[in-house]
Amino acid sequence: MAFLTSVQAQPNIQVHREAFLMGSRFDITVVETSQEKAEKAIELAIQEIQRIEKLISSWSDSSETSMINRKAGIKEVVVSTELFELILRAQQISNLTQQAFDITYAAMDGLWQFDGSMKELPSPTTIQQRLALVGMDKILLEASRQSVYLPLKGMKIGFGAIGKGYAADRAKMLLQKQAVPGGIVNASGDLSVWGTNAQGDPWTIALTHPLDKAKVLGTFELNNQAVVTSGDYEKFQYLEGKKYSHIIDPRTGYPSQGLISSTVFAPKAELADALATALFVMGPDVGVDLIDQLPQVECILINEKGLIFTSKNIALEN
Ligand code: ADP
Ligand code: MG
Repeated sequence: MAFLTSVQAQPNIQVHREAFLMGSRFDITVVETSQEKAEKAIELAIQEIQRIEKLISSWSDSSETSMINRKAGIKEVVVSTELFELILRAQQISNLTQQAFDITYAAMDGLWQFDGSMKELPSPTTIQQRLALVGMDKILLEASRQSVYLPLKGMKIGFGAIGKGYAADRAKMLLQKQAVPGGIVNASGDLSVWGTNAQGDPWTIALTHPLDKAKVLGTFELNNQAVVTSGDYEKFQYLEGKKYSHIIDPRTGYPSQGLISSTVFAPKAELADALATALFVMGPDVGVDLIDQLPQVECILINEKGLIFTSKNIALEN
């Protein structure tokens, strides 16, 4: 008879905390061997998200984003490698999406309000004037100095469509580096997951139909992956009988119409976030066509009539 000396494996526990960060609700779930370790990990994740918020937020006057915007038409701003690279990746996604995703959409901010306060469409002249300030190709990037220059007065950048995804990825990466075995960073519907749950099973998410919460579109196992849903049902505006979303088509200056929800699966939440926004602008036909060409990326789109469009590897229930 052999003697077995075994190291008693500690059972994992799952700890969840809610936090208000980047102007939205975050839900952080961590799998660890003790409550104390889990709490510490969650604290680290929160600090990381706060750090990113300080760097990229348009609301804070001291962020690098605000500095760039303040100096539009005046002079270039030398930024951190982190922000410089984020802008470079945003530019790549803009090219990938035929300019549907564009962080310079921000010059249109204020023209459209999505809180119900708008009574009429802005005039076509006003839209054209603002549109002249939009376009990622206008941003002057100087890699040697790591400088960013918005050459026109009134130009602006904003990370509203990619920042939460980026923050979710960074928080996840930090906890993975700390050897936290599993978790979910959920930034108001932008999810980045790794590892397994406390039972050792894959994380699963159920997607419900935005027009009928009792209807489950499908349950999906996530494995070191991200899923992002764009579509905030409170951020719609009816104008002159038409329903407009809070996502602007940077090519026309008008808010996108048609889709009410866009879900994207991708290896990273940053890419999923940006693509989910871009798909609103691109619409279901062009959008699904693009997603079908991208490896490890899938999408589920729903239009205002409740019609569902999916990329080729998505199988929905019923
Ligand atoms: P939500 O989770 O609110 O649906 P999204 O990730 O879709 O958010 O981002 C929407 C936000 O992105 C808008 O509120 C605005 O700040 C910004 N935005 C709007 N249109 C565009 C665009 N075409 N490209 C990049 N950012 C955009
Ligand atoms: Mg987005």
